[in-house]
Amino acid sequence: MSKKKLTKRELQKRQIFEDKKNKRTLRISFGLLFVFIILYLVFHTFWYDTKFAYRQYAFYGKEVPTELVCMNGDKLLNHKSLKLSYKGKDYFFCNRDCYEHLVNHYKEDAFIPDPLSGDTICKANALIGLKNRGEPEIVYFQNRKTFNQYYKSKK
Ligand SMILES: [Zn+2]
Repeated sequence: MSKKKLTKRELQKRQIFEDKKNKRTLRISFGLLFVFIILYLVFHTFWYDTKFAYRQYAFYGKEVPTELVCMNGDKLLNHKSLKLSYKGKDYFFCNRDCYEHLVNHYKEDAFIPDPLSGDTICKANALIGLKNRGEPEIVYFQNRKTFNQYYKSKK
């Protein structure tokens, strides 16, 4: 009788022990998951910032791809842009709001003078370059000739 009781108690003890162990495993797993998520977020942000900073130097004097600019804000983006058409031409934006802005201010937003020739050009047809090294502002050029002239004069 006493032996059986002891076994029961032992069983209970073991049960408690197992529970504790499970709880600890669960806590460690959650802890690791949490640490992993934090690391991922930090890395993710850091990676995009680094790439963005790098591009502000790497693209200087080179043609900037349209899918990395906003034609409303006239800036290089740290993410891919949204391609949207208006009046049969493709424009690139950070988001829909910028597109709406261009549509509502079409004459002021979609056209800009070439910095060298002074001719008004449509952003959708322009060659895009960085205004200054290490800065996100962009300039629009009529053609390769004014593009090259601009960077030559900046040297
Ligand atoms: Zn924008």
